Amino acid sequence: MPLVDLYGHESVRALLSESFERGKLPGSLLFHGPQGVGKQRLALWLGQLLLCTADEKPCGKCKGCEYSRNLTHPDLHWYFPLPRPKQPDPTLADVIDDYQDAIVERLANGGLYAAPAGSEGIFVATVRAIVQQASLSPAMASRKVFIIGDAERMVPQEGAEFAANAFLKLLEEPSSKTTLILTSSEPGALLPTIRSRAVSIRVPPLTETAMRAFLTDPQVAAALDKAGAPKSINERLSLANGSPGQLLGDEARSKAIRAARKLLDAALAPNESARHAAVMAVGASGARGAFSDVLDAMLVLVGERMRAALHDADEALASKASRAVDAISLAREQAGGNVNPQLITARLLRELATSLT
Ligand SMILES: [Zn+2]
Repeated sequence: MPLVDLYGHESVRALLSESFERGKLPGSLLFHGPQGVGKQRLALWLGQLLLCTADEKPCGKCKGCEYSRNLTHPDLHWYFPLPRPKQPDPTLADVIDDYQDAIVERLANGGLYAAPAGSEGIFVATVRAIVQQASLSPAMASRKVFIIGDAERMVPQEGAEFAANAFLKLLEEPSSKTTLILTSSEPGALLPTIRSRAVSIRVPPLTETAMRAFLTDPQVAAALDKAGAPKSINERLSLANGSPGQLLGDEARSKAIRAARKLLDAALAPNESARHAAVMAVGASGARGAFSDVLDAMLVLVGERMRAALHDADEALASKASRAVDAISLAREQAGGNVNPQLITARLLRELATSLT
């Protein structure tokens, strides 16, 4: 699945493509603007433009464009915050593997993703990987593009001054074959040494026309449904307020919704073993807060079902959903007490299996 198209941002696009045409595009750029406004998507668009081999860039038809849009271009490097690596000192290959997995995950959703969790960062092994890859010649195109999303999450680390300095040098004097695009919704939190070395470009909120076009893209609509965004276009418009990424929530919320969907699927599965597996997947002690979040997300999902049933005047279904809501509310209460989450889940799934099917 290729990336969802870039919507809006026409004036920034015109500015960037014009400075590229005149040979004046800076080697290090910082896109800043509200969270979820599409800064990384815009950076990927600029990457596609820089790697396009046609005259009218980006043409959308050449191999370069195709690879860029599938995120398989060997000269397009995309980095962003990830959980702290498990190994204390990961190798370059480990880092590249981690990012490949993360990019496949983002791409599976058309390149739409929730804001990173608070604990995620761009750690020193990643900075080393960027510096190392920047020292190599381009593999296919005449240049390399590095996108570093949420760059304020680059964490300075003791004993890693060498990597940090090498990165600053890269940012200050990228070779003529390298373009670095940093993005940040909190440019004030960037290290001043980084901020002063990149040319800032403000990315404003999307216009209502662009927002409407984005929201009616079927790939976007499906991703938003999956993320548990409100159903109506008007609600989506007002919640996003020009920053469509806001609709994807944050990582913790999306995780809770995904887990809640899995539990509901397990409850509706015809066989006992799916329910058993789902119960096992809930940690025995688990993080209590996270478990409560999952139950809250289940309430929202089943509540939606109930509203839809009432809307369709399907009384039988509405009364089933209402029994399910009661069962989830009870589980939510128990989760706040000292009851084992696995025990609560086992009971809840049995209850839902009878009340929902
Ligand atoms: Zn092209």
